[in-house]
Amino acid sequence: MTTSTSVLITGASTGIGATYAERFARRGHDLVLVARDKVRLDALAARLRLEHAVAVDVLPADLTKSSDLLLVEARLRDDERIATLINNAGMAQSGSFIEQTPDQVERVIALNITALARLSNAVAPRLAGAGKGAIINISSVVGLAPEFNMSVYGATKAFVLFLSQGLHLELSPKGVYVQAVLPAGTYTEIWDRAGIDISAYAEMMKVDDLVDAALVGFDRRELVTIPPLQTAARWDALDTARQALLSDLQQAKVAERYRP
Ligand code: NAP
Repeated sequence: MTTSTSVLITGASTGIGATYAERFARRGHDLVLVARDKVRLDALAARLRLEHAVAVDVLPADLTKSSDLLLVEARLRDDERIATLINNAGMAQSGSFIEQTPDQVERVIALNITALARLSNAVAPRLAGAGKGAIINISSVVGLAPEFNMSVYGATKAFVLFLSQGLHLELSPKGVYVQAVLPAGTYTEIWDRAGIDISAYAEMMKVDDLVDAALVGFDRRELVTIPPLQTAARWDALDTARQALLSDLQQAKVAERYRP
């Protein structure tokens, strides 16, 4: 059965995004699939229409190009059937910061930060006005761990987590659900695309398991879902410690240790 709402998924041609597409089609949602590779999007769309009897639109776009990004923003602003945005498109990079070029750094930021923030901004006012809907943002555990030696990628994912936390505070009172999903290493094409050899890495999560776990968090309306985190209390402790800082941060008085 087709529900009355549809889900727009970025980076839907493969990996985590394609798996989300299959899961939401299975739940009876119509879909709008966004990525650059139209051939792959068309093939996925045809399969999902056939297997799940849902309507699937394909919207090819390079989200690092502002003209393409504007088209997706317009679709999110104007298409009232879209009640869920999944900001999934993202890329990683090999090498250390000093090995990366300014253009490479800019490209990761354009896709992982600029596109995600602009698309969220395009849809949020309409969802808030309607008093319902959801934004799922795919972050990463790397955003919590500078120690993983992926400084720019990790910083973009820290941005995604922070933005999600901020949007949750602003939008949840207006009826809009925001979720940040933090996968750890998951078997997809992201590693090959980034030129990162994972043959020596420890075992990673299967993409089906990752998305099914993320959807458990979605159905529970969790703000932060970390599928690989075995002990949920560790995240709660970190967040509680962060919140304990808040009153200390808002002080007019210079801290004793900085007094000349
Ligand atoms: P993936 O298999 O490489 O898929 C990335 C998707 O993004 C593809 O559909 C790709 O399609 C699309 N994409 C890439 N560049 C694009 C662009 N410029 N414009 C539009 N679409 C673009 O990666 P994945 O592992 O599924 O990653 C999905 C998300 O999960 C990312 O945000 C990633 O950072 C995050 N994540 C992944 C892992 C992991 O270990 N796999 C861990 C933590 C977080 P086209 O090539 O057709 O455009």
